[in-house]
Amino acid sequence: MAVASTRDADVAVVGAGAAGLYAALCAASEGASVTLVSATPLAQTASYWAQGGLAAALAADDSFELHLRDTERAGRGLVRRSAAEVLVREAPDRVGDLQSLGVRFDADRFGQLALGLEGGHSVRRVVHAGGSATGRRVVRQLSALVAAHPRVTVLEGARARALWVSDGSCRGLVCDGRIVLARAVLLSTGGAAALWERTTNPPGSQGVGMLLAHEAGAALADLELMQFHPTAVIGVRGREGFLVTEAIRGEGATLHDERGERFVDELAPRDEVARAIQELLVQTGARSVGLDMRGIDPARFPNVFSALREAGVDPSRELVPVAPAAHYMMGGIVTDLDGQSTVPGLYAVGEASCTGLHGANRLASNSLSECFVFARRAISHALSGTADAIERPGDSEAQRLASVPELTAASPETRAALWRDAGIFREREGLERLAGDTHPLARLIARCALARTESRGAHLRSDHPATEESFELRHAVVYADELDWQTWS
Ligand SMILES: Cc1cc2nc3c(=O)[nH]c(=O)nc-3n(C[C@H](O)[C@H](O)[C@H](O)COP(=O)(O)OP(=O)(O)OC[C@H]3O[C@@H](n4cnc5c(N)ncnc54)[C@H](O)[C@@H]3O)c2cc1C
Repeated sequence: MAVASTRDADVAVVGAGAAGLYAALCAASEGASVTLVSATPLAQTASYWAQGGLAAALAADDSFELHLRDTERAGRGLVRRSAAEVLVREAPDRVGDLQSLGVRFDADRFGQLALGLEGGHSVRRVVHAGGSATGRRVVRQLSALVAAHPRVTVLEGARARALWVSDGSCRGLVCDGRIVLARAVLLSTGGAAALWERTTNPPGSQGVGMLLAHEAGAALADLELMQFHPTAVIGVRGREGFLVTEAIRGEGATLHDERGERFVDELAPRDEVARAIQELLVQTGARSVGLDMRGIDPARFPNVFSALREAGVDPSRELVPVAPAAHYMMGGIVTDLDGQSTVPGLYAVGEASCTGLHGANRLASNSLSECFVFARRAISHALSGTADAIERPGDSEAQRLASVPELTAASPETRAALWRDAGIFREREGLERLAGDTHPLARLIARCALARTESRGAHLRSDHPATEESFELRHAVVYADELDWQTWS
């Protein structure tokens, strides 16, 4: 393939979900030129699908300390405290920024932000918009601003297929016949939950950015830590994997077994609720448990009620069949607190990144906050250094880059294998099988999961059911062919 053109920018951003859009706006507002590359339409980003909202300690009865404590408690001994501290301290200001960018969050009758409650939070702290249409509202507003910004060029429908690293630094990327050269490249390509057969995520969430970074020599970590959301719809045509937000349990919805009995604290952290459901399903052979939303006001969660009604389930009159599904990748591209990966010039933010903030089990609604907090920090850092001149590849290097093949989507066999062998409960035999899969990220996930010979948070090894002290605060980090255990401060 010939290289059609090159394009220069101060910052190249890959991915137009919450993290990428906000990063592009932060950079442009600092006077930088930005090229934003996005493979899928807006409505197919996880950000657009986000329902519950953003966690921020804004209530009178809340504090940074309390938000930090809940984050660490949910993260099961693996949260990197410095990253969690940054999140809890900076999230309230990012909510303010979004408001000043025109995002209208839901307010109570006194005009104060209405705050929702979700599992693992000890107080109400989830800021939302349009009831459970938070992601859609936020992303639409940010993308309208991006589209109108004179310093942002958007390459829509363009898929990054390689990063260009020269003299050990990332200098640009290749996408669909173009080479985008930049002083800094920021990957905000989202997570990898759609590698699993049963998922709440859009089909594009297959960890492509993680693989691009890995190929470029960056470290990845915690890939064994996939969070399974407890309440994804099952057995309803057209709505398979549709997420019923935890905020609905926060308002009083309850979970029931086949006999109609409650069996779990619905507001426990996600790993606990997902595990209780899966154990029950294994014991009874049932496919689903029932989510009772009959006491919930449909006006509070209009998009969830209407999506279910369109699919023929009326949540005001009947229980909704739900079961866990792959939802959120806690692992990803290793970064410091300024979004820097281990390759100079390459940044990662949002679900593609791994700061260690979520530990082994993300606290609900910390991820949207993370997108905004760390996108801003990464852009400040990227623009703060003395700007290097943009480097250009020679002709033969440009030809080589242009001929890098596109990463193909995971096959149905790989997706089935991840669900079977790296599902909620996993064990050595299945993981060893997965380690021979054709998909490179599936193999890395299997390696990390095999190495963590304990159960912690979202990682439940049937053959190693105990949580081992020796693994506390230890992250499985993969570089090229090496796996190394690191403790981050
Ligand atoms: C149904 C659902 C509900 C959720 N609810 C909440 C919630 O209430 N609160 C919360 O905090 N979190 C929630 N989450 C998680 C949260 O939405 C995500 O973690 C977050 O939105 C990720 O944002 P992002 O910008 O990192 O990635 P995404 O929003 O996934 O965007 C990724 C972008 O990268 C692009 N991309 C990927 N690969 C390439 C490539 N090779 N080249 C070019 N572009 C590429 C995609 O096209 C897309 O534009 C939810 C997730 C789901 C699926």
